[in-house]
This record gives sequence, C-alpha cells and structure tokens, in this order.
Amino acid sequence: MSNHQGLKSRNLLTFPLDLPEVEVIRVEINEGGDYIVTVESTRNSAICQTCGERLTKFNGHGREVELRHLPILGHRVYIRIRPKQYECPKCKGKMTTQKLDWYESKSPHTKAYDRHLMLQLVNSTVEDVSRKEAVGYDAVEGAIVRCIQTSVNWDELTELQIIGIDEIAMRKGHGNFVAIITTQQSDGHVALLGVLADRQKETVRQFLESIPQRLYPTLEKVCTDMWEGYANAVTEFAAAHPEVSLEVVIDRFHVAENYREGVDLLRKQECRRLKKELSAEEYAEIQGVLWPLRKNHEDLTADEQKKLERLFERSPDLKLAYSFREALTSIFEMQLTKEEAKESILAWQDKVRQSVLTCFDKFLTTLNNWFDKILNYFAGRFSSGFVEGLNNKIKTTKRRCYGILQNTTLFQRLYLDLEGYRRFA
Ligand SMILES: [Zn+2]
Repeated sequence: MSNHQGLKSRNLLTFPLDLPEVEVIRVEINEGGDYIVTVESTRNSAICQTCGERLTKFNGHGREVELRHLPILGHRVYIRIRPKQYECPKCKGKMTTQKLDWYESKSPHTKAYDRHLMLQLVNSTVEDVSRKEAVGYDAVEGAIVRCIQTSVNWDELTELQIIGIDEIAMRKGHGNFVAIITTQQSDGHVALLGVLADRQKETVRQFLESIPQRLYPTLEKVCTDMWEGYANAVTEFAAAHPEVSLEVVIDRFHVAENYREGVDLLRKQECRRLKKELSAEEYAEIQGVLWPLRKNHEDLTADEQKKLERLFERSPDLKLAYSFREALTSIFEMQLTKEEAKESILAWQDKVRQSVLTCFDKFLTTLNNWFDKILNYFAGRFSSGFVEGLNNKIKTTKRRCYGILQNTTLFQRLYLDLEGYRRFA
C-alpha cells in the first residue's frame, strides 16, 4: 500500500485498491487497528445536476466523507474522500459535487461493501450481520434498501413456464396470509416474483395483470394449493387474454397434505380409544407411533415397522387408512397419463367409499371439487417439488426474520435468500 525500504518490507504486501478513478494519498492505522485510506478522485469533470452538461471548471472540494469498505486481512477499512466540486457556467455558476461510480452519495458504505453485506445476509439476519461486521443495525437495513428492490424486476426474466402460488401466515393464529409467487426457470432456478399482501382473487389477478405481455407466450401452468382465490384469478386472467393459455395445476404436495390429514385424524381418535381400553403396559408398546405413521412405508426402520404392526393389530381401521394413504401416494409416483391417473384415482376412491372408513370423507369432497386440476399434474408431470422446497425456505426465512410484517421487506429478504449468492458472490 505504500513503499517501505529495508528488512520490514518482507512483511509488507502491495496490492491495488481496486477502486476506479482514485489515487491513494495516505494510509493510516488508527488505535483500533482500522485502516484509514485517504483517496483523491482522478476524474476531472462532473455532470451538472441542473442542466446535464459536462463541467470541467473545478471549484474546490466538498466536505470529507468516510465510507466503510471491504476488510483487508480482517481489519476494518475506511475510505476517506473529499468529493470534487465543479461550477456550471450555464447555470449561473451553480455547483455540482462529483459522483464516482463506486459509492452513492448519502451512503456510509462503498458499493463493494454494500455487496459484501448482502452476501453476509444470505440465510442470516440483520442483527447477526450487524454484530459480526460491527455495523449499525440501521446501516445494514440501509444497505438492503440500496441493493434490493421491493418488487420483481421483470427485465430479469425471459420465461414464466411454471408459476407457483403459495401462502404463508405472517403472524401465527391471525389468519393473516400473504401469497408468495415464484417461478421455476428451465435451468431449475427458482425466482421470486412477488409477495402479495393477501390471497384474495383480486390481489392475485392484479398481480397476473402486471406480467409484461412479452412473457405471455411463455406462460403454461400455475401451480397452487386448492384455494378458490387463486384458481379464479387465473381463470379470469386467462379469459381476459385469449392469447394466454394458462392451466391451473394443484400441487401434489398439497393434495397429499389433504389426504394425510385424514389418517392423522383417525390416529388421534384411535389412540384416545386405545388409551382407555388398554392397560398402561399394553399402551406403552404402541406409544410414539406418530413419526413412523407419518413416514412413507418404504422409509420405515425395522423397529418402526414392528411398532406400527402392533398398533395395526389393535386398530384395523388405522391399518386400512394407512394402506389407502400409501396406495394414493404411489399413484402419484407412477408415470401415468392424465387419463390413466383418472381411472386409478377413481378406482381408489370407490374402494375408500365402500370401506368402513369416514376419515377420508373431507378429502373425497375436496377431490371431487378439484379433480380435473389435480389430474393436471399428470399432464406434463413437471416436478412441483420446487414449491414445497421453497416453502420450507420461506418458513425458515420467516422464522429467522421474526418480526418482519411488511410484505415488501419480506420480498427483499426472500429475494436475497434465493438470489443472493448469484447476485453478490
Ligand atoms: Zn448546468
């Protein structure tokens, strides 16, 4: 960083500062071990802030600014610069402060340091990054505002084949849902398109209307949960734009959630019944069946299988419900055409109806209401797993950023978690 002579130079590194259009004037180290690098701009002009003319009449320096920059070997680095000022002859001598590309006026950081903060924030929290970097909480938030937009930049997208709509509860128990809209790109990358304030039909329809027309020909499927608001929004949007062919596909994981719920319900009933009927000793044998019962049959350990069998001996109904559940899951696993899937699921439904079970009644109604859209999964058989995988990510982000109540902030944090490594690494 500066030239030293003699033995000591063996312990010195010289490297470029990598900030364009500046010259290093001085490097100092303060008592805290921070590097203070004073620089001077080498650019000899500015653009008049009033008339846009290029100015070359230098008129002194403005007040010195100090900007946090990337650390060097673990030491904090601050760049000090006194911005040059130029006078405009056309605008009655009005002064313009020169702007260099590597920092923004009013930002306490260089752009490189803002990017560094963004990278630290991926899968982390403002509080954590603030502590690790010894930067104020507000300064980290300020960097987010400078670096991350609060809604989708359509220019970044060239296709929208599969759109996923899902919701998360912002506050537990408040029924306060926001809708998360994503898309899976053909390279597998999942991009965030929107965080909507609610999941009303009109809100979703307005979002769909914000899609630029140039992307219409790429639209194919909207993958959602069984929620009227979403389905109706898609139907209305498609009706208003005859050139758009957009199909609603019910995410298979949401279908599974639905029929699995029936088995859970029965398990609770049966466990209550058995607790009354069995001796404490006998009941202990089947306790802890919740997790084995939740698992797919092929994932069970030998021990879990034994436990389940013991429970099934005591509860034939639960055994039957479990086998129905596994049978339906395997239909979704099979490579079937939409027509074949329809037949298989109808056959499954008949067997369930003819059985003694009532725990699937609610699901059968849902199935009936959404049948065609559920079957759309088999046409094309694209993996809808991205919605589920993303959901888990969103849940983690939400938990981590506890207290985020604004959907624009949630958009920024989700965007950062999804795109951060690509954009800032
Ligand atoms: Zn001017």
